[in-house]
Amino acid sequence: MSYDRDDGGLEQAGDFDDEARVRKGRALAGTAVLLIAAPVALLLATGAEHPAEHAWPPPVEAPAELASSPTVARSAGKRTVVVLLFDGLAPAMVEGAETPTLDRLAREGAWTDAMVPPFPSVSLIGGFTISTGCWPERHGIVTNRFFDPGKGFYDHSKDDDWVVECEQLHEIAERQGVRAATLGWYGEVSASHGKRARIVEWAASWDEYPSDAGRAEQVAQLLALPVEERPQLILAYFKGPDGAAHFLGVDAPETRAAVEEADRAVGRVVDALEKNGLAGETTLIVTTDHGMVPIHHLVNLDYILRDLDIEARMLATGTTGFVYLDDPTKRDEAIARLSAYAEVFDVFPTDAQPEWSHLGNGPRVGDLIVSAKPGYAIEDRGQWPWYFRWLAWTGPAVYDASASLRASHGYPPGTAPVNGVLYAWGDGVRPGEKVEEVRAIDVHPTVAALLGIAPGEPVDGVVARGLLADDA
Ligand SMILES: [Zn+2]
Repeated sequence: MSYDRDDGGLEQAGDFDDEARVRKGRALAGTAVLLIAAPVALLLATGAEHPAEHAWPPPVEAPAELASSPTVARSAGKRTVVVLLFDGLAPAMVEGAETPTLDRLAREGAWTDAMVPPFPSVSLIGGFTISTGCWPERHGIVTNRFFDPGKGFYDHSKDDDWVVECEQLHEIAERQGVRAATLGWYGEVSASHGKRARIVEWAASWDEYPSDAGRAEQVAQLLALPVEERPQLILAYFKGPDGAAHFLGVDAPETRAAVEEADRAVGRVVDALEKNGLAGETTLIVTTDHGMVPIHHLVNLDYILRDLDIEARMLATGTTGFVYLDDPTKRDEAIARLSAYAEVFDVFPTDAQPEWSHLGNGPRVGDLIVSAKPGYAIEDRGQWPWYFRWLAWTGPAVYDASASLRASHGYPPGTAPVNGVLYAWGDGVRPGEKVEEVRAIDVHPTVAALLGIAPGEPVDGVVARGLLADDA
């Protein structure tokens, strides 16, 4: 495997050769770790999901307008579909908060507390899976950060150019004559093709993302447009309670407040639907990319690889790490050495993945997949500013997380708290129904069915019939 070592973000590899200097520095570093734990925790905090160092979304400067749009006409069905995706909205959080609007959606519509994300259960992979209806092995966004031998370093990008196969919801809509609007959505812009929907609320950086209240206002404004301009499909991303839950805990008052703000945001959209007389002809779907699991320890996989003399580079997000071996023929040896940490994480060779993993065999996944046990998260110090990266070379291998991170996600499906919530309400929805589960891959075909259009080609999910009224 020959990834470009000079690629952006990989400069950590440069000094790895200076073994002696590094080992000598370890004793000092141990003290330093304690002294700067707090600021680093903060940096880790801001970087854990959305690193400030890298442009996020990626550098797609002022995307061009949607190039070719079919004749403006509403689709065969008259129905409008609005999808609101809140980052990290876990069932336990909703249960612990005052959520009158979500409660109403559950009472009057169909819902589940098992919206099953793909593996790893992290935001980018989840969002692209929801939007395309494909497993990551097809759409190619295999986690939040990975290497691609041709394209280089992927880091939290929503650029549609990274998608290998499959179509986004807004693409199939526009292709079939359904006006679409995307607000901070996955694959809404492309470096090569510009905007991928007629209306795109695109932000150049994470800091420019609106609050959930602000995002709800944007959705409400779209719903107030005259019928000839109003989008028939609206896909909106909300920051949700993810950040608060990560750094303050699933049960923290701030997390509860964030969930209640999310509920008010949904309320604002419901209000707009009712005020504009659209409630009877609209399906509202409120969902998330993943749940949230309390953690107690962090795993320094960079250090472990060095300590076990495994020559490799790794990238990690949440609870999953991809290991790219310098010499892939040493794979079995690496697995044997890493088995010393069997209580902390599982290790899968890429070509022998468990049946629930749909990451495929491509080079983006690396040679080994390291999946932490519940309660452990894997940190990637390569996300830290360059002047802190030397800390990756210091121990300890596993250490208490309470100073920095309280909760994480990324665990395999079957780890119940990584599931999220999904509510469907309004036109075409079976009222008063709780369904056992809905998979992330099923959202795309379900939205297509509600719009009366064909799903993308290819697609892995199926229509979630349990959510829908018999005549939908
Ligand atoms: Zn998160």
